[in-house]
Amino acid sequence: ATGVRAGAPETAISLRGLRKIFGSVTAVAGIDLDIAEGEFFSMLGPSGSGKTTVLRMIAGFEAPTEGRILLGGTEVTDRPPYARDVNTVFQDYALFPHMSVLQNVEYGLRVKRVERRLRRPRAIEALETVRLTGYGDRRPHELSGGQRQRVALARALVNRPKVLLLDEPLGALDLKLRREMQIELKAMQRDVGITFLFVTHDQEEALTMSDRIAVFNGGRIEQVAAPAELYEHPATAFVAGFVGTSNLLDGAVAKAVLGQDGLFTVRPEKIQMRPRDEAAADGDCRADGVVREVVYLGSATQSVVDLDAGGSLIVLQQNLRGSVQDKLDLRGAQVRLTWHREHTVAIDGPR
Ligand code: ATP
Repeated sequence: ATGVRAGAPETAISLRGLRKIFGSVTAVAGIDLDIAEGEFFSMLGPSGSGKTTVLRMIAGFEAPTEGRILLGGTEVTDRPPYARDVNTVFQDYALFPHMSVLQNVEYGLRVKRVERRLRRPRAIEALETVRLTGYGDRRPHELSGGQRQRVALARALVNRPKVLLLDEPLGALDLKLRREMQIELKAMQRDVGITFLFVTHDQEEALTMSDRIAVFNGGRIEQVAAPAELYEHPATAFVAGFVGTSNLLDGAVAKAVLGQDGLFTVRPEKIQMRPRDEAAADGDCRADGVVREVVYLGSATQSVVDLDAGGSLIVLQQNLRGSVQDKLDLRGAQVRLTWHREHTVAIDGPR
């Protein structure tokens, strides 16, 4: 096992024209998607955008109104959940309270009728994968939220499925633990090499963990791209706003600031801000304005600047040692914003 593969990786999940209608609600409005084997793929979008419904159709809990689902190239659209090589981790973990951690993990093997003598060693190995060696005898209530989450993960991994479906699995954790688990989950995925399909409404979470992200809006996919591509080159105004801060320049404002018609965005950290009288020449785009708000964020300071040309832009500046106080005094200041033209991204899609 050198990890060397001939040719491109196989497709783990293919969705073709997938639709789901609940009564008068179109939850999923026709989706085409290919997810590669071993990929960490996230579905990102606001509440009600259809992510969970897509996941449930792949798991087999929900039948599509139209369209096809293929796993590893085999059509499974009409197969029941147990006949699909996928496992699901839910937000609420669904652990059995009366069973020990080890029994909870073994349960995943019992369901799949794995021989009794093979169950224990494989359950122990799965606990090792999620860094819970030594916790096998505890009951779920004797664990922290993050540890319970890992048990749920171990139970899903123990069958060695081709694909793991995860529906907001970190949603119940506090922010600090959530950030830690994001990094660990990504590391575990890399270790086991299983395809992860991850649902989240948290853009930072998706950007941190994913190889690629599909941004959902109203039952449709707005864009599929790697995190950096999504952030640097959002294809639509919705993506620009949902993945980061929208900072849109449009109509007369675009004309005044950029000398161009159309819809544009520029990311907050790409903009330099100086007092207007200290005329700075770095950057070939410029806009004058007045600082409306200043928010101190610890490592950075965020300012909202109302532009003389109309509209506003958000500016993010790193707080270097000794520079914080200057920035807190900026409210109401006349400033000049400058940035390089290459950081102005044109958006083709509708607003
Ligand atoms: P969230 O992040 O809140 O889980 P989501 O993006 O996963 O949202 P879905 O749960 O897939 O969105 O829901 C998509 C739409 O379909 C919503 O309008 C929802 O109300 C509707 N919906 C989902 N399940 C059902 C159902 N069983 N019956 C009727 N409508 C449903």
